[in-house]
Amino acid sequence: MTRCDGVTVHAPAKINVGLAVGAVRSDGFHELTSVFLAVSLYDEVTATPARALTVTCEGPDADKVPLDQTNLAAHAAELLATLHNLPPNVHLHIAKNIPVAGGMAGGSANAAAALLACDALWRLGTPREDLLTICADLGSDVPFSLIGGAALGTGRGEKLTELPIAGAFHWVLAIAHEGLSTPVVFREFDRLAQGTRMPPPTIPQTLTHALAAGDATTLASALRNDLQPAALSLRPSLAATLAVGTEAGALAALVSGSGPTIAFLVTDAKAAAVIAAALTTSGTCRTARVVTAPAQGASVLPTPLGQGLGTAL
Ligand code: ATP
Repeated sequence: MTRCDGVTVHAPAKINVGLAVGAVRSDGFHELTSVFLAVSLYDEVTATPARALTVTCEGPDADKVPLDQTNLAAHAAELLATLHNLPPNVHLHIAKNIPVAGGMAGGSANAAAALLACDALWRLGTPREDLLTICADLGSDVPFSLIGGAALGTGRGEKLTELPIAGAFHWVLAIAHEGLSTPVVFREFDRLAQGTRMPPPTIPQTLTHALAAGDATTLASALRNDLQPAALSLRPSLAATLAVGTEAGALAALVSGSGPTIAFLVTDAKAAAVIAAALTTSGTCRTARVVTAPAQGASVLPTPLGQGLGTAL
């Protein structure tokens, strides 16, 4: 698959530098307050004209990605086509780098990327506001995959306020051998919290101020993920991964979202390389990736010169 066949969009993975979980709402979702941060680990989605809606996927986790209508990227294409009263005739090819069920919103990134790619391929010019509405219908994390950067999420995580962020934060991601199901982690959270009164979920201002100031040391002291005990309870081996990165000099570490990916905040690129090497040799994770934040949201990638949409349609 080459980019010149259609439109290629990349969208970033996210980590939650703050995730406060509140009570279960009447619709079954937990009330959340989340600080999303987009990191420089991207999936690419290429949309090409086709007779029907089809999906293919490549990458180390490709066998874990559904290729039918349950694929979030396919669902995104369908919703966009419905909005414009069009048949969803498109082939979506996903080049996957974001671990599946890794707590990094990989499926959401694919949905946001597919939405932008189809919008460009079908030359629809859908207003950003309408794209964001479709994103919120697709899932709690999808709107953030579209906007990227840093944002505060409330509701079930989908109501976003962009946050100011300065400089670049350096992270190492420890990617686990096996994923964790988000609903299962929430159920474990509920089991562990049984009988505890849940206060409204809040994020300390120190955290958002640290992002705005580009201050990694203060951010390290303010990282918070209420789902971490549940992820560790379901996957006790994550404690060993946390210990390796912390002993190798990370400023702080936390489970990303529902896990099992662990994000280590580090001072600079040099420290990141040392910690990534320690994690890789420890064998406590499948792989370690060095990333920076913030990363931009879903964006159309340039097509090679002379091979634009004019030739693809
Ligand atoms: P989040 O952090 O948003 O809770 P996650 O990163 O833990 O999600 P995903 O990688 O988005 O998890 O995948 C969760 C499940 O969604 C997968 O196990 C898979 O069955 C399904 N799925 C549907 N579409 C996709 C897609 N395009 N890519 C990956 N998984 C998908």
